[in-house]
Amino acid sequence: MIRLFLLAPLLSFQAQRIAEVGCPCDPAKPETMELRQCSLCAEAERQPTDVEIFFLRDASPRKPNRWLALVRTHDYDGALGLARMPHRLRTRLWEAAIRKARDLWGEEWGLAYNGDQVRTQCHLHVHIGKLLKGVETDRAVRVVNGPAEIPVLKDGSGLWIHPHGRKLHVHLKEQICETVLMR
Ligand SMILES: [Zn+2]
Ligand SMILES: [Zn+2]
Ligand SMILES: [Zn+2]
Repeated sequence: MIRLFLLAPLLSFQAQRIAEVGCPCDPAKPETMELRQCSLCAEAERQPTDVEIFFLRDASPRKPNRWLALVRTHDYDGALGLARMPHRLRTRLWEAAIRKARDLWGEEWGLAYNGDQVRTQCHLHVHIGKLLKGVETDRAVRVVNGPAEIPVLKDGSGLWIHPHGRKLHVHLKEQICETVLMR
């Protein structure tokens, strides 16, 4: 649990604000999206209007190997975003993210979605990266056949996913999830 220990104080202030007061951003008012926590909303607005899912390199210089998968719509920003998303769109998002992750890292890929209490960006996003060695655990793990079966909990927790033979491992019930991926 070292990774949780180090990151929690850094993430907590901003994340707490998003969780408690929501976000003031409104795509109709570009000036409201200049807050750091809303910068992914601004990126979404820059995409062509017919785009459903897109990818970005993580903007942090401290995470040079990371990418993000995002939906263009703001409908699922904020708390319980994945849980509120229709199953078909969520499946397309997972499929696209897995394809991108596999292109980047072969069978060493991982995906992570942080929980509501630690998220520092209001716009819905999935982290794409290389799974670190030694993070495997048998706690709250489910084995599923593919993206359509990836469960989503309605308790605000996050999840991380990696290949498990021809199936997928889905690790549930964690808040800080992106730390299983190489920065
Ligand atoms: Zn926002
Ligand atoms: Zn947004
Ligand atoms: Zn696993």
